Amino acid sequence: MASPDRTPGAGPAAGAPGSLVSALRAIVGEAHVLVRPEQLLAYECDGLTHHTGPPSAVVLPAEKGEVARVVRACNAHAVPFVPRGAGTGLSGGALALGGGVVIECSRMNKILELDPDDGVAVIQPGVVNADLSKAAAPHGLFYAPDPSSQQACTIGGNVAENSGGPHTLKYGTTTNHVLALELVTADGELVRLGSRTGFAPGYDLVGAVVGSEGTLGVVVEATVRLVPLPEAVETLLAIFPDVVSACRAVGDVIRSGLVPAALEIVDQRTVRAIEDSVYAAGLPRDAGAVLIVELDGARVAVSAEVERVRALAVGAGAARVEVARDAAERQRFWRARKGAFGAMGRLAPDLYVHDAVVPRTKLPEVLARVCEIGDRHGLRLSNVFHAGDGNLHPNISFDRRDPDELRRVLAAGEEILRACVEAGGVISGEHGIGTEKQDFMGLVFGEDDLAAMRRLRDAFDPALRCNPGKIFPTTRFCVESDPKARGYDRVPLGGAPRP
Ligand SMILES: Cc1cc2nc3c(=O)[nH]c(=O)nc-3n(C[C@H](O)[C@H](O)[C@H](O)COP(=O)(O)OP(=O)(O)OC[C@H]3O[C@@H](n4cnc5c(N)ncnc54)[C@H](O)[C@@H]3O)c2cc1C
Repeated sequence: MASPDRTPGAGPAAGAPGSLVSALRAIVGEAHVLVRPEQLLAYECDGLTHHTGPPSAVVLPAEKGEVARVVRACNAHAVPFVPRGAGTGLSGGALALGGGVVIECSRMNKILELDPDDGVAVIQPGVVNADLSKAAAPHGLFYAPDPSSQQACTIGGNVAENSGGPHTLKYGTTTNHVLALELVTADGELVRLGSRTGFAPGYDLVGAVVGSEGTLGVVVEATVRLVPLPEAVETLLAIFPDVVSACRAVGDVIRSGLVPAALEIVDQRTVRAIEDSVYAAGLPRDAGAVLIVELDGARVAVSAEVERVRALAVGAGAARVEVARDAAERQRFWRARKGAFGAMGRLAPDLYVHDAVVPRTKLPEVLARVCEIGDRHGLRLSNVFHAGDGNLHPNISFDRRDPDELRRVLAAGEEILRACVEAGGVISGEHGIGTEKQDFMGLVFGEDDLAAMRRLRDAFDPALRCNPGKIFPTTRFCVESDPKARGYDRVPLGGAPRP
């Protein structure tokens, strides 16, 4: 095996001792350990591009035994490690702050078992979300949580973030679909949590790991629930003069007792960005807002529901309601919605996708405040969001190379979060806390709450080596009274300061 020091330009980055790199190469093979700066560049951030932290090395294991050995090697060198899937996360969760080893699970992408009778799949963590539903479709099944990033994001990342998606409204988030997990713990042991039946006596450790943002261990296998494909699906597109009337329609639909599979709002600025892009779907550019409603279930019920939703939308002020005539048209509507973030890529080099939840009834007033905040800071802000869940995604298009614009983006982001919390909401619906919102945890949790969370974290990872520097506040909130909290979970390697 070649020493990293003898490979031109391939010396280990600061923080990864040569002996660790050699150990990693012995476990996964030389080709699957990345140490060159140009290789590491791709791993310096996730989808939150203004938080960066290049790793010391990236390792790509092929199976769970290799993951366990990698974790043990990191421990032997007292080097932290960070699980990573596709890097589509939006809260800075998958970066190695100040160095450390990124364990990228993309090679672990096999569907190990698909059991249509039990409605269960056993999968490796690097399986891409959309690929699971594709594999399940011939059996009349699908995997319900469908983040808009589903063509790229992995089940490991979905489990870590407890990801949602447009269909969360009816089907729930990832936590409602994970039955069992296999986890490489922070000290390199392989443990099984939960059971294939979904029933497991004792503490709900699967529930603890789902949404733990990669801080409690590396998920190396997941047993997930598959649900039957509905007999009928109808997708409606309602065109509104403004966002307020679209929000009113959302409230009316929910109050009527209907449970649509999805209720998504796209505002005017987003409609224009979509229509200028390859995701153009023929949406009217002058629409104040577009509401996508998806209904699914038994054919006879869905047909009746379409007419009820149409009437409710018109009653709330819709100028026009279209019903997709076939699967191709339905896909066109969804391509517009799911391509919205991609469409933003034409507006500016960076996109800050915010994520917060407010009570549904507060959507109109919070959206008005969000737009006022964006305008006051002179920012390009648009909204596309899971309206049925009250899950807002204010998107700010910007250029992080402009320090003044970045300062205004961050100031507006903080104001948006505070406005959502003041309206009775929370600081994340589905993207997690990561490095993005750790200093805002104090807006929704007291010191006792955070201390309880720290004790849980300590029980899994007392050395704070698994994805350190995430979730918990660093300096600004809630740490004054607890000396352990100050600097808790800081990266042991010294660490580069965050912007
Ligand atoms: C265009 C776009 C649209 C999006 N839409 C949605 C949406 O609708 N709903 C939604 O919820 N999210 C959405 N996201 C956010 C993101 O796609 C999800 O958070 C997704 O689950 C991340 O998966 P990933 O494989 O990219 O994980 P990564 O970004 O690589 O990692 C995310 C977190 O998971 C941890 N992790 C990854 N793999 C493992 C593992 N095997 N074991 C333990 N921890 C692990 C990492 O440490 C990190 O903390 C969107 C992102 C983009 C870019």
